[in-house]
Amino acid sequence: MAERATRATGEGSIAARKSKGGARSKAVKRPAATNRPAAGKPKGVAKFSKKTIALVYDFDGTLSPRPMQEYAFLPKIGIDPAAFWEETNRVAKEHKADPLITYMHLLYKKAKEAGVRIDREDLVAQGRDVELFPGVLDWFGAIEDYVREHAEIHGITLRHYLISSGLTEIVEGTPIYDRFHNVFASEYWFDAYDLPYPKRVITDTGKTQYLFRINKGVEDLGETINEHMSESERPIPFSNMIYFGDGDTDVPSMAVTRKNGGHAIAVHPPGKARKKCVDLFNAGRIDFFAPADYRQGSDLYRRTCLLIDRILASIRVEEEMWKVAKSAK
Ligand SMILES: [Mg+2]
Repeated sequence: MAERATRATGEGSIAARKSKGGARSKAVKRPAATNRPAAGKPKGVAKFSKKTIALVYDFDGTLSPRPMQEYAFLPKIGIDPAAFWEETNRVAKEHKADPLITYMHLLYKKAKEAGVRIDREDLVAQGRDVELFPGVLDWFGAIEDYVREHAEIHGITLRHYLISSGLTEIVEGTPIYDRFHNVFASEYWFDAYDLPYPKRVITDTGKTQYLFRINKGVEDLGETINEHMSESERPIPFSNMIYFGDGDTDVPSMAVTRKNGGHAIAVHPPGKARKKCVDLFNAGRIDFFAPADYRQGSDLYRRTCLLIDRILASIRVEEEMWKVAKSAK
């Protein structure tokens, strides 16, 4: 963990902050970087600050082949996954309920019916059973290396973010949790009621809120995201972002990212149906699609690096323009 904190490009991982004794970034208020000199400081110290690249991932179907609850939670309470999701959709439709709230409610209702008590620690432990697509474990370091080798200018930072409708606690137990600068996922209150109660539910459209939080540098969930912030003040422009997803649930995030000048890639299970990706591509939702093979040299790795090349080139151009604009004052 400590070595990761010193990597040239991997500045703010959860691991790095933990090793500094910091809390989860969710609770950390980070001031938004701006291009304007801070008050009271001489003008000369101002630097072009939009040099952070954000890779934002969906989890289920994108980094992992199946929904994360299927690896341990559902088997533990003896429920067939297909039947569970079918019941979730049916109940949500019947009661006109939100499907995400419905799944979170049914999960614990079923556990109670089966006489199985699953607490926060159990969920974290379940994260260890979650399967990841080939190469995911090494992906984060490999992309950081690529950025470091191809940046050509100083000060480029790479961050990985996760935005998932799945459960924060299960993600916490996976071996890749520490690679993320921040994890935004659904979460339970464990002590409020007889059954754990949804504390935060991240729906398909709700995911876009977190893209704006990354864009505006407002990652503390206690802070409102709705205050106006001009484009020039936003620390991570959408043009510095790549969103990775696997299907319909990612459409709002892909649309928001691309409409704001960012990039999106869709993945499909290696060797399996790619129709969803083809549809997303033909609808103009994504730049690329590829099998979810995260190993170096794969189509996914190569296409991600191409987008990174474009982002790096555009950061260099923007920085030069910023310098020229400064000298022209
Ligand atoms: Mg997904």
